[in-house]
Amino acid sequence: MSDTPSPPSTPLSGFDAPALQQHLASILASVPDAMIVTDEAGVILAFSRAAETLFGYTADEMMGQPVNRLMAGRDRTNHGKYIGNYLRTGERQIIGKGRVVIAARADGTLFPIDLKIGEALIAGHYVFTAFIRDLTDQQRSEMRMQEMQAELVHFSRLSAVGTMASALAHELNQPLTAVANYLEASRDLLDSPDPEMREILHEALTEAARQAVRAGEIVRKLRSYVSRGEVEARPVALEPLLADAIALSRLSREAADIPVKLEVDERIQRVLADPVQVQQVVINLIRNAIDALAGTGDARIVVRALIPVGGETGLVAIEVCDNGPGLSAEMKETIFKPFATTKSQGMGLGLSICQTIVEAHGGTILAISPPEGGICFRFTLRLEADTSEI
Ligand code: ADP
Repeated sequence: MSDTPSPPSTPLSGFDAPALQQHLASILASVPDAMIVTDEAGVILAFSRAAETLFGYTADEMMGQPVNRLMAGRDRTNHGKYIGNYLRTGERQIIGKGRVVIAARADGTLFPIDLKIGEALIAGHYVFTAFIRDLTDQQRSEMRMQEMQAELVHFSRLSAVGTMASALAHELNQPLTAVANYLEASRDLLDSPDPEMREILHEALTEAARQAVRAGEIVRKLRSYVSRGEVEARPVALEPLLADAIALSRLSREAADIPVKLEVDERIQRVLADPVQVQQVVINLIRNAIDALAGTGDARIVVRALIPVGGETGLVAIEVCDNGPGLSAEMKETIFKPFATTKSQGMGLGLSICQTIVEAHGGTILAISPPEGGICFRFTLRLEADTSEI
């Protein structure tokens, strides 16, 4: 600091005094938010170190430049008008309030910022100070939240399958009753010696087959409704996908206090997957495990991603294992078939849907009974091509 005492109570009058300049320079170098000072024509008078980092310009480059170079779209064109309006009318649009606007970096990329502007009247002229905070990360996490919500909606749609089931049961009942009636009539006709009856028998069996196909169509429609039809597989990071699925499955259940551990082989980065659908599979498997673990002391669930040894290369196996009662040999045969369930409230569709999704991704799903008990459901996905060689 200089030995010459600065005028103590009138800092404005000492605006260009060396001490004050030094002080201003130290503020500009250390203020954590980007800070830009302009005159009332929008010409930049000061440009902080954080602003340099944020916008990719040096302070030297920006001094004396119009501040609207840092703006985008209509703000860039109209900035002069905004200041003019304010100076003329004194009506504050942004000053003292803050607003989210889009800014432009030196390389032309646009990004969202929170802009706050303060004003000072110095020697009859306004000086505006803008404080700028980068909102890119915040916006990214908001988008992530929105994505998670969309996933949750899809997830609750699966729960809505239960409700839809009663309507479907009604629809299915018709063709199935018809099949049963035609088959019973056919059996009776078999005993008849009348050759004409062969014709009727033929018709009855044809009709029974037609009705059975109709019942199958209804089930297929339900499956594609739940599994969202086409798969749009793209490279996605597996670990966060699994972590989100775990978080989502725990949100929806009372038994959410069962610990779910995630283990991912560090060689695994990205897989080819439709992330929402694969999460659907993992969520279903975890929900089943939670159901199976009701009443088990020391209940545990492990979600594991590993590179299978032997077999086809370029695959990753994802396992959801629990230490519950496991599956009977008989159940093991049928679990992937629609309507195979041991639950009073169950639809028996979850695993069948999982299988549809996994197979649409070109993978396979199976249940393995580990020697230590419980059950592991294991399905495969393709690794993104360039990670398959590791
Ligand atoms: P739902 O859950 O509606 O019964 P699923 O197709 O998801 O339909 O499951 C079919 C059946 O498989 C379940 O009813 C249950 O008997 C059995 N099952 C699934 N997961 C497990 C598990 N982790 N442990 C034991 N049994 C399981």
